[in-house]
Amino acid sequence: MTSIKQNIAEVINQITLATEKCGRAADSVQLLAVSKTKPVEAIEEAIAAGQYAFGENYVQEGVDKVNHFSSHPEKNLLVWHFIGPIQSNKTRLVAEHFDWVHSIDRIKTAKRLSDQRPTSMAPLQVLLQVNSSAEATKSGITLAEVPALAAEIAAMPNIELRGLMSIPQPATDYDSQFATFKALADTLEQLKLTYPNIDTLSMGMSGDMEAAIAAGSTIVRIGTAIFGARDYGNKE
Ligand SMILES: *Cc1c(COP(=O)(O)O)cnc(C)c1O
Repeated sequence: MTSIKQNIAEVINQITLATEKCGRAADSVQLLAVSKTKPVEAIEEAIAAGQYAFGENYVQEGVDKVNHFSSHPEKNLLVWHFIGPIQSNKTRLVAEHFDWVHSIDRIKTAKRLSDQRPTSMAPLQVLLQVNSSAEATKSGITLAEVPALAAEIAAMPNIELRGLMSIPQPATDYDSQFATFKALADTLEQLKLTYPNIDTLSMGMSGDMEAAIAAGSTIVRIGTAIFGARDYGNKE
């Protein structure tokens, strides 16, 4: 069995190769280690390997981890991203504990997060979740809905819009993966014209990282390849 440290090195190697292939700088793409369902010991191992950005999907579990690591020697380097669906009654916990939220798809959620973000903390950095597969059952807004939601969020004081996130349908071939990601990247470029702080595209997972990076991803979200398979039935 390979260690978390080795896995991280391997994923970073894949990111570097993908950036070289499309002529981008290796440090223009950040690795977000998705640690949902994994114990704090696994995160500890990742931190020891120099990984500081973590993504969590479940509010209470994520909050427990943020609290656990709030006394860690490297706590100031850690960056916590909430990437799962947010129910209204959980926005306060997210606003009080996380640095980033990738999964904004409603004005109401954004407004609650801004209202509940403690002013003693830096503004919450947020991304709009786009549903690139146009599946009614999935969370996320359409690309056409992005400008209106962006305009609302830009007026909110305690959250800062940084870009877009998407979880596309698993597409098997590179070309369709790339086309979906490129549409998102084009929309981001449009947003940048109005909002100068926008710079982030959270897209690309294990199976579609290369296409996402070629299209302009700045954050790839990787879980299993770092921490191993998840066991939802028997949470550690
Ligand atoms: C779980 C999850 C990931 C990571 O998935 P893996 O297949 O474990 O790499 C990435 N993004 C989101 C939004 C997730 O929920």
